[in-house]
Amino acid sequence: MYLVNYTSDDFKANLSKAEIAIVPIGSVEAHGHHLPLGTDIFSPRLFCKLINERIGEEIWIAPEIPYGQSYDLSVYPGTINIPTEIVSNYIFFVGKSLLANGMKKLIFLNGHGGNVNALNLASEKLMQLGMDVVIINWWLDFSKDILTVTEGQGHAGEDESSAILYYDEKLVQMDKAIKNTKKPLMRVYFKDRGSVLYENALSGDATLATVEKGEKIFKLLTEKMIELIHNFKAGKYYIQE
Ligand SMILES: [Zn+2]
Repeated sequence: MYLVNYTSDDFKANLSKAEIAIVPIGSVEAHGHHLPLGTDIFSPRLFCKLINERIGEEIWIAPEIPYGQSYDLSVYPGTINIPTEIVSNYIFFVGKSLLANGMKKLIFLNGHGGNVNALNLASEKLMQLGMDVVIINWWLDFSKDILTVTEGQGHAGEDESSAILYYDEKLVQMDKAIKNTKKPLMRVYFKDRGSVLYENALSGDATLATVEKGEKIFKLLTEKMIELIHNFKAGKYYIQE
């Protein structure tokens, strides 16, 4: 159920069907020379579409948050960088207002690494208000599954490029796909990190991307996300070993 397609009255009438929402969040950010700036919102958008097709009556799809924290890549043209504190506050208030509207549970479906700190902070605050929150950083949380499809992962790398090929092949310029095999040795912070570590706004090997791999990633991960949603809705938050 796409929240913004409902009238206020119809939203109220349907709320009891599902007191849970997904908020897709991304960034406007350089992704190599071959992927569009909207890459990080396109993947969550497509996951939401596939989830809605499968279990649409069980969950609300809230509007996207397309901007994110993107300091590292802001050296490349077209990148829009919003500081973590602002992103975090913004998404906290989106969550708080959804809670006030009756959403007891919330899933942030994130497509961008720079948003992780903002989402962690906002979720810590939301849980203290009584909201149950799950953060899905899709390329991290389902890394094992992704690596059954691709050889590697990376920013605008094989996995993300395959995903966008499947999202819309026309948006990808595979003739400009290259690789950057630099891998950081530590969780290091320095001013020019973007231009040094993410040379050409990329990490990993984009040349290996295919539309078929993208299709497999979306199909596999959509199933995993639906399973997660069902567990989350049922309050099944852990397994006992
Ligand atoms: Zn990305």
